[in-house]
Amino acid sequence: MDIHESKRIIQTGIAWANWDDKQKEAMRLALVSLDKQLPKKVVGTDKEGGFCPQCQAHNINLFRYCNECGQLLDWQYRTLLPHRGLQRQQR
Ligand SMILES: [Zn+2]
Repeated sequence: MDIHESKRIIQTGIAWANWDDKQKEAMRLALVSLDKQLPKKVVGTDKEGGFCPQCQAHNINLFRYCNECGQLLDWQYRTLLPHRGLQRQQR
């Protein structure tokens, strides 16, 4: 199962049942956490780094994840080493 499929299952589950507010909040947090594992393209890149598309924090281009919010970063111009959690994931 990949991250996209996990998100679909959780989103369907939220809509299906009569969850209480605490349970719904837990599922929303799970969706936010899953989203952060999907690579997002860095914006405003320069030779030292670029800005996180999620929180706009500046990160140096050695960081795989945003130093501020934990978003998985896609640097576009450099090849990321394979990551176990992402090997079966499609972009
Ligand atoms: Zn960030």
